[in-house]
Amino acid sequence: MALTGLQIYKLLPQTNCKECNFPTCLAFAMKLAAKQAELAACPYVSDEAKGQLETAAAPPIRLVTVSSNGHKVAAGNETVLFRHEKTFYHPPGLFVRVRDSQPVAEVGALAAQVAGYTVDYVGMDLAFDGMAAQSDTGDPNAFARCVAAVRQVNDGALILMSEDPAVLQAGLDAAPGAVPLLYGANRENWSALGKVAKEAKAPLALRSRDGLDELAEVSKKLQAAGVQDLVLDPGRRDFCGSLAAVTQLRRLALKHGARDLGFPLIAFPGEGAETPADEAALAAQFIAKYAGFVVLDQFSPALAYPLLVLRANIFTDPQKPIQVQPGLYEINNPQAGDPLMVTTNFSITYFSVANEVDSSGHPGWLLVADAEGMSVLTAWAAGKFDASTIAKAVQTTNVADKISHRKLIIPGQVAVLSGDLEEELPGWEIAVGPREAVDLPGYLKVMA
Ligand code: SF4
Repeated sequence: MALTGLQIYKLLPQTNCKECNFPTCLAFAMKLAAKQAELAACPYVSDEAKGQLETAAAPPIRLVTVSSNGHKVAAGNETVLFRHEKTFYHPPGLFVRVRDSQPVAEVGALAAQVAGYTVDYVGMDLAFDGMAAQSDTGDPNAFARCVAAVRQVNDGALILMSEDPAVLQAGLDAAPGAVPLLYGANRENWSALGKVAKEAKAPLALRSRDGLDELAEVSKKLQAAGVQDLVLDPGRRDFCGSLAAVTQLRRLALKHGARDLGFPLIAFPGEGAETPADEAALAAQFIAKYAGFVVLDQFSPALAYPLLVLRANIFTDPQKPIQVQPGLYEINNPQAGDPLMVTTNFSITYFSVANEVDSSGHPGWLLVADAEGMSVLTAWAAGKFDASTIAKAVQTTNVADKISHRKLIIPGQVAVLSGDLEEELPGWEIAVGPREAVDLPGYLKVMA
């Protein structure tokens, strides 16, 4: 649990020497508690106090990273139960599972399909993070062939799944250079799998078959054996039970300082699903609450797209709308006589408008005003997208030097601004465009 400023103060030398650049030890302690200062700034903290402070400062959910060829999935380090309290920091890695009982060609084809799928969403490239390979056969050679088939076509992150240390070792040998997540330790095999994980410096996932107490018990043993990077599978697979389990784990880690349970979670939505639609719904549930790794048993663009977009939206900071840079954007190589439109710098608004104009084939100038990342109506209601903001955007971008007319098309939702704008921009004609971006192609066609 995090310490208060006063608790930290009691561990400091209390000499007020000011070498930390704070006037007193108490002031430094308060800044440490607020995470606005580094303990290293005080050269006089005893080793014993340092140990206590570092333990208390450790994140309640450990950050665990798997990596491969520059691809990295980091899970954990979350600090809140609900996104609106602050933000969620680390999006869960999305993986697709293959099995060593499948033909190698089938494994390679699926891994290639996953690697080749990307989505351009409001200026972000969204993609799955990698593959999970599971040993069904228990044969190290078969598992190595399966992992090698994945690696040939997909250099994303890896999860290797077997309860047999020899099989996991064969998978590791087939993936040189990767730091995969190893799955899964339990009460019986934790020691042997812990040795493999420690040797490979790879994180290890443990699966409970007997409730959260088993997870805490095995986690404690593994940490004592020197395996610090753990991932937890609470074992429940149904909608209700799995939601209850992951919520309880998050709550225990954040609110009760349960160090043995303070690790990212892994989920297998396909194992609790009777239909592909169930798997998609369970995956969505785990993205929202609270998985760090989600392993799917099916893959298609129709499934991947909504999950990727959902993940992108859940893991944006709710206090910072996604924005594009204000300025003047050229679409379809516009000339001086082509139309000039204005909108706000909220990403979804910008991309909706820009994509419609782009796909219409009509050239145009798009003036993006700084509305603090809000959509058109929200910004207008908040006074962030008014006549003076738009006039300022016209002036700062020098758009008048690039076009041969003086006509500005404003969004139909803020038609009320046209009078004020004519006053702010003398000599300009203000035209009211459509209310929805989707109607822009038709509007531009009529204007052309
Ligand atoms: S450097 Fe250490 S001892 Fe000196 S004022 Fe800062 S916290 Fe106190």
